[in-house]
Amino acid sequence: SIIWTPQEIRRQFPSLEQKVHGSKPLVYLDNAATTQKPQTVLDALIQHYNYSNANVHRAMHVLADRATEALEDTRKTVQEFINAPGAEEIIFTSGTTASINLVASSYGQVYIQPGDEIIISHMEHHANIVPWQMLCQTRKAHLKVIPIDDRGELIMSSFEQLLTAKTRLVAVAYASNNLGTINPIQEIIAKAHHAGALVLIDAAQAAAHLLIDVQSLDCDFLAFSAHKAYGPTGVGILYGKRALLEQMPPYQGGGEMIKEVTLSSSTYNDIPYKFEAGTPNIADIIGFRAALDFIRNLGWSIINKHEKELTSYTQHLLGKIDRIRLIGTATDKVGIVSFTVDKMHHLDVGMLLDAQGIAVRTGHGCAQPLMQRLGVEGIVRVSLAVYNTFEEINYLAHVVAKIVK
Ligand code: PMP
Repeated sequence: SIIWTPQEIRRQFPSLEQKVHGSKPLVYLDNAATTQKPQTVLDALIQHYNYSNANVHRAMHVLADRATEALEDTRKTVQEFINAPGAEEIIFTSGTTASINLVASSYGQVYIQPGDEIIISHMEHHANIVPWQMLCQTRKAHLKVIPIDDRGELIMSSFEQLLTAKTRLVAVAYASNNLGTINPIQEIIAKAHHAGALVLIDAAQAAAHLLIDVQSLDCDFLAFSAHKAYGPTGVGILYGKRALLEQMPPYQGGGEMIKEVTLSSSTYNDIPYKFEAGTPNIADIIGFRAALDFIRNLGWSIINKHEKELTSYTQHLLGKIDRIRLIGTATDKVGIVSFTVDKMHHLDVGMLLDAQGIAVRTGHGCAQPLMQRLGVEGIVRVSLAVYNTFEEINYLAHVVAKIVK
């Protein structure tokens, strides 16, 4: 890995250099919504459109070859990034949401029978709740929920009690996008497998912050979004074990996913193409490779060390402020510090922070059931990335303290 100073990391992100509301330096702390993009990603997009813009897999010409090669290169890079056994186990989608819907629809419609059970947790993003509700409704299956404690950790003894011979699938987040909690997914996967169930990991909030190794985890499916990992919007990844993907029916029909089509019937392409109907988001997939290289060049030890220290520091400074209630105090956390302010609406806090150049998320964070569990209508969420600095957190704490007064 390359040793960059914090300033050298920041300089790679042109969007971080801007001022907002006239003269306020941008303090971007909404990385769980989407991260900013390094210059190398932007360069890759322009390079593609200027030099290799063509559709992939189809034509016999130079540009088509370049585009196809670059797209498949990203697939290989993703394979290495999550240590998947094969590149054909990496499916390009439009995002985590699309990846989870693909599994719910394709796997679910065939393998979920009436009376079967699916387990999620109380801290899931709507993208890992609603597709399973829809599936349970059409297949007459039951959705069960792992409860969480007041610190925002899964209650594992309850999970064990929820597992039955009828459990087909467990779908949980690697890390919560609102609490920051890193879930014990290794243990969840082992216990689910022991009960004969498959496991889907929602790694949207993990991909840029935690090493993912699908072989050592032994998860059956894993989903994440490029845009939360320094890459372009509109690109998602679905990893699935080869044997499962091969048994699953296509999700959508169209070009690219077929072998042969007659007017009466069609045969389907091999994986991953069977699940990639239509023209993919070629440019953004190619751009994502540069984001993965950025993470690889930095290295997990630097990312983890910096984000851990910054998270504790943020929690420490905000926790000292009167009338602030920290939300999510799990021992093992990614860089998310959420809070509410006594007698103040979260939207007002967000607006006042924005006026000082500080970008945070306010509201239910796409997790209304979690808000119901916490007994709040919404939260203020500070979410960190590797380019955030201690100076920014000092400024945040200073402004929050003023607002609260
Ligand atoms: N799951 C989690 C944990 C997330 O944080 C997000 C994005 N905020 C999603 C799912 C959905 O991702 P996308 O909107 O990119 O499909």
